[in-house]
Amino acid sequence: MKQVSILGATGSVGVSTLDVIANHPESFSVSALTTNKNIDILYDQCMKFRPELVVVANEDSANKFFTKFKKNANEYVPQIETGRKGLEIAASFKEAECVVAAIVGAAGLPATLAAAKAGKSILLANKEALVMSGDLLMKEARQNNSQILPLDSEHNAVFQCLPINKDQCDIEKIILTASGGPFLEKSLSEFENITPEQACAHPNWEMGKKISVDSATMMNKGLELIEACKLFDVNVKDVEIVIHPQSIVHSMVAYPDGSVLAHMAYPDMRVPIAHALAWPQRIESGVKMLNLTELSALEFFKPDFNRFPCLQLAYDALHAEQSATTVLNAANEVAVDSFLNEQIRFTDIAPVIDATLQDIEHVEIDELDVIFEKDQEARKYAERFIYDSLVRH
Ligand code: NAD
Ligand code: MG
Repeated sequence: MKQVSILGATGSVGVSTLDVIANHPESFSVSALTTNKNIDILYDQCMKFRPELVVVANEDSANKFFTKFKKNANEYVPQIETGRKGLEIAASFKEAECVVAAIVGAAGLPATLAAAKAGKSILLANKEALVMSGDLLMKEARQNNSQILPLDSEHNAVFQCLPINKDQCDIEKIILTASGGPFLEKSLSEFENITPEQACAHPNWEMGKKISVDSATMMNKGLELIEACKLFDVNVKDVEIVIHPQSIVHSMVAYPDGSVLAHMAYPDMRVPIAHALAWPQRIESGVKMLNLTELSALEFFKPDFNRFPCLQLAYDALHAEQSATTVLNAANEVAVDSFLNEQIRFTDIAPVIDATLQDIEHVEIDELDVIFEKDQEARKYAERFIYDSLVRH
């Protein structure tokens, strides 16, 4: 029986993870669940999976959660924690062998690091943690024998196509696929008027709002490029990005002999989640088997950087000093949030990130404090830039 802690249990990845676990009660049990504010979903999840520990990160919501639990008093009462400290307790909870890191954004870094320090097996969805922490997260994981298994579908695909022992055989390159999001064909002249609702309507995947907007700008692929370099310890020139609108091939690894291994499945996060949960074994994910004869043609083409300037910004950040990816991530989080709150236009997202990347000094990252300082500096800069230049007063 594998015990699992899920950080960000109430989100899209968290819910899909619990769906897979619910189908395998003989193999997995849930030891901790966390949310930020979504206490109703968390409450239902608690009643179903009975974790020993629950964490509500937001203090106000935690009080409401306490009250709800008291009112519906029954024999099951979990340990309830709050705030960042609570998330770190869940990440290093002694019972859990494996930790699903599915909090969105920079908020997930401290807990993901705590899981690495505690030597847990980390099922990583929270790509922002990796992007903002330079090499620190991977270093911490290595030092504490914490294995990182990618949940991001592309990286999970690459993981499955890589040789088991990397030292035994060279690879030629990693090929990351990208759907291109909902605006692959949209006329550029209409980009200014894109609404949050349109940006969140992804053609192939159902996801949280932030990653949906990132997919629409293709910053998601930029973050994933950085994620691939860190996770697989490869150089940016060894990673190619191709647009593949059907989202059936989730990524590929090319070898010197001309072989290209691809991972294929319907676009459903339960496939990589089931893979990582059971690894090195295999279990059913609940997703139907790919029917090749029912598929339309599979297309692959190069990304258009004019259409997706955010992708170029991710390359720029990778080529600068380490803290540039911290700045990239922070500015993107601020810009996406402002777009979702209808303070800026879709086409303003890239300029906010560009200005922040250009104006903040980039440095080497050797400790966690530097990451959090740069993260805060970039957020403040991006917020000010939006207020001064973009919000109509
Ligand atoms: P989501 O918005 O649906 O869920 C986010 C979760 O994080 C929720 O449980 C929320 O309560 C929690 N959370 C948010 N802010 C928090 C805070 N400040 N403190 C503590 N908890 C907080 O997001 P999602 O789509 O599930 O994505 C989660 C992560 O997985 C992201 O990093 C995303 O890039 C990555 N990812 C998602 C998908 C997908 O299909 N959804 C695919 C690949 C990677
Ligand atoms: Mg992905």
